[in-house]
Amino acid sequence: MSHANLEQVKRRIEAASASEPDVTLIAVSKTFGAEDIAPVLDAGHRIFGENRVQEAQGKWPQLQQRYNGVELHLIGPLQSNKAAAAVALFDVIQTVDREKIAKALASEMRKQNKHPSLFVQVNTGEEPQKAGIPPQNTSAFVERCRDAHGLTIDGLMCIPPFDENPGPHFALLRKLARECALEKLSMGMSSDFETAIAFGATHVRVGSAIFGSRG
Ligand SMILES: *Cc1c(COP(=O)(O)O)cnc(C)c1O
Repeated sequence: MSHANLEQVKRRIEAASASEPDVTLIAVSKTFGAEDIAPVLDAGHRIFGENRVQEAQGKWPQLQQRYNGVELHLIGPLQSNKAAAAVALFDVIQTVDREKIAKALASEMRKQNKHPSLFVQVNTGEEPQKAGIPPQNTSAFVERCRDAHGLTIDGLMCIPPFDENPGPHFALLRKLARECALEKLSMGMSSDFETAIAFGATHVRVGSAIFGSRG
């Protein structure tokens, strides 16, 4: 099933991005096991997102022995005691959201001499329960990552409030990225990736539209 879903999502991305061709599809495989992920790998897809370090550690090293060229994105909150494992496993960490994490990542990247691409997560809806830098602090935080920790930030990521029209949140993230001179924008999920592309998403994170419902 997920192979056909993958092709359909790819066609929808192509249609939505007619004028802006470079949208990276991150297939979000959280909660799904190797048997569900393998068909998507067999179909040639290589870019995947996971939201938990430990869960990803449990399934991806084996899959990476079977399939070359996998690119893994961490899209869930990172605890500093997992920074070492995250740097070791992930190619992109999209959820840099506080000073303590920036510091832990910088130290691990030096130690492991491995440099995953980093995005800062912005809490565009300023929801108390949600991770992310408040919008008004974004540019100061991006600067601090660079100046105090020597980190290169490549883009911004957001998860709009569940019950709101996502468009204004995508527009805000794009505006913040421009202010910070960042080119990459990770926004849009199964329910709204076409809207996100219209607002300039360079990375969309699509789970259920590819893998089916997480139950
Ligand atoms: C689960 C998840 C997604 C994918 O959500 P779907 O609605 O299944 O496409 C995208 N981004 C993040 C941060 C997630 O945790």
